[in-house]
Amino acid sequence: MVVLITGASQGIGECIAKRLAKDGWDIAINYYPTNDDRVKAEKVAEACRESGVKAEIFPADVSDFGQCAEMVKAVRDAFGSIDGLVNNAGITKDTLLTLMSEEQYDQVIAVNQKSVFNMMKPVVKIMMKQKHGAVVNMASVAGLYGNPGQFNYSASKAAIIGMTMTAAKEVGARNIRVNAVAPGLIKTPMTDKLTDEQKAKIFEQVAMKRFGEVEEIASVVAFLLSDDASYVTGQTIEISGGLSM
Ligand code: NAP
Repeated sequence: MVVLITGASQGIGECIAKRLAKDGWDIAINYYPTNDDRVKAEKVAEACRESGVKAEIFPADVSDFGQCAEMVKAVRDAFGSIDGLVNNAGITKDTLLTLMSEEQYDQVIAVNQKSVFNMMKPVVKIMMKQKHGAVVNMASVAGLYGNPGQFNYSASKAAIIGMTMTAAKEVGARNIRVNAVAPGLIKTPMTDKLTDEQKAKIFEQVAMKRFGEVEEIASVVAFLLSDDASYVTGQTIEISGGLSM
């Protein structure tokens, strides 16, 4: 079984790649086409191969429709099939609505939201011919509840939830499942920078009183891609330690 993961040269995507390799998936690692990201992606591929699976790296800017189509063709040529897709790549350009530039809005929509169309259109076509497949899209609690300073990001992530449900309804009868995950506050270099006071304020809203770990996102993604989730589709699973209760 072959899975293609976008934005997998670092962070949550890297962790998902390593976890799925341990589960026995062959891994196609997408990275943003810069030299730095290529070096990081190659290290992720090496780590995946240590689990005894095939792993290759594929450059593409996921906001570019043509580059996505070419990458999907290259992955299929290299691996023979695409059984799983994780639309993970994402960016933030945070600022308050009244200060947000058109460029900041458009960039976030292009990378986070249009990329899901760019990737799902060619991959789902392949999955329809195969008569099976599973997709996991990376949403966010910002798309469920909103977050000050993230007008563009919340728009992109809320759209992903709608796209997930629509695609699930379109292709469910073809044995293709489409789900999303909505992470809350995940421990990354960004959240490490918060002061104890800022963390305490955030934890007031989180039932579990801690950040999530990248592994805790990867395990839910692995479940949704697996046959253990064979009757789960169109869902958005919140992974936030109980942020919304
Ligand atoms: P990250 O460390 O910044 O990783 C995102 C990856 O996507 C990077 O490798 C990045 O490459 C890549 N990327 C950006 N633009 C791209 C493009 N146009 N084409 C291809 N790749 C591109 O972020 P993360 O925290 O792991 O986040 C991963 C996903 O989880 C995102 O969708 C994010 O919105 C979502 N999420 C994260 C959190 C959190 O707390 N971390 C919470 C909720 C949701 P560059 O480094 O070159 O930009």
